[in-house]
Amino acid sequence: MAVTRTFSIIKPDATRRNLTGAVTKMLEEAGLRVVASKRIHMSKEQAEGFYAVHKERPFFGELVEFMMSEPVVVQVLEGEDAVTRNRDIMGATNPAEAAEGTIRKTHALSIGENSVHGSDSDENAAIEIAYFFKPEEIVG
Ligand code: ADP
Ligand code: MG
Repeated sequence: MAVTRTFSIIKPDATRRNLTGAVTKMLEEAGLRVVASKRIHMSKEQAEGFYAVHKERPFFGELVEFMMSEPVVVQVLEGEDAVTRNRDIMGATNPAEAAEGTIRKTHALSIGENSVHGSDSDENAAIEIAYFFKPEEIVG
């Protein structure tokens, strides 16, 4: 298994409840290393662009409003098979279906306010990392 990178967001429901550290601890304990991190308040344009793949879904407007409602923490995570490892520790999109011990089972409020984003493929990880970070902001 190769060391790879993935992109993560600690979402507004988690930053609002002061869970940035708790979520990051779970990522680190899963074997992921934070090689870039910044707290930002997303603009509407940033949120719409980031989630453009979902623009036809019925929850798109709600998702964009949520993501720009309060600050988020965007991160680049590095580790063995980082995309899959991160998706495993995140848990299912709907916290009611997420496995015990996952971030979403432990912290998420609902299918929308589900505490974390994680890239779903190496290809999307590269696109999402470049959407928020300059190469020099990532220190491995
Ligand atoms: P994931 O974040 O697990 O990759 P998706 O890519 O399917 O899930 O959806 C992106 C985000 O959109 C979810 O994390 C969640 O915040 C929101 N979302 C997904 N499905 C719903 C839904 N049925 N109702 C409201 N929000 C949703
Ligand atoms: Mg997704």
